[in-house]
Amino acid sequence: MNDVLNKTRRVLRDFDERVKAFRQDEARKGRPVVATCTKGCFACCREPLHTSRREAELIFASIPEPEKEAVRQRVSKWLDIVVPTGLAAEDLPSVHLWRPLMAWCPMLKDGLCTTYANRPIGCRSHMAAGPRVNCEDDELRYFQQYATMPMLTAYAVQQLAELEPEGVQMTHLPAWLALFFGLVTEDVFSDSFYMKEKK
Ligand code: SF4
Ligand code: SF4
Repeated sequence: MNDVLNKTRRVLRDFDERVKAFRQDEARKGRPVVATCTKGCFACCREPLHTSRREAELIFASIPEPEKEAVRQRVSKWLDIVVPTGLAAEDLPSVHLWRPLMAWCPMLKDGLCTTYANRPIGCRSHMAAGPRVNCEDDELRYFQQYATMPMLTAYAVQQLAELEPEGVQMTHLPAWLALFFGLVTEDVFSDSFYMKEKK
């Protein structure tokens, strides 16, 4: 694994440590941050997920060789579902229009994240506070509540931006994977790319 990807991994671990410290601090103050998320819970893995190029590269580099073909096929399936809708071209597509597509993240297999240790900030910071059924049911999803930590997330994105000379370039994780697998050319998703500038 090259130096930049090791640094990317450190940003992800650092984010987890900051979240843990924040939650411990809040618990001490008598206002614990309650999260519903547990292993085997994956309803959110069919929602739009933007990542930086480095996060996607880390995931791609971590796919074991024997798994690559299966992941490539899941990426291809995601493309077949999403591209014709035109939703991928939007910076912030509606989660409520996206979910019924059933465009599962290609890194999900048998209800488990196959890249859990390397999952991006977007997944780590997506922490439900309401009942799990609110994530599972498309109608109830409107009422789900989240434990948001915007300052910690912004700090992590800023750290990721330091790893890319022009600022952090974002698009859908499966779109990055499609590019890396050579399934699409960059122009297919050119409208969906957006930049977060270095501060
Ligand atoms: S956000 Fe919702 S679906 Fe995703 S892991 Fe948490 S509770 Fe489960
Ligand atoms: S990277 Fe893992 S946790 Fe994130 S959406 Fe994909 S399968 Fe789910």
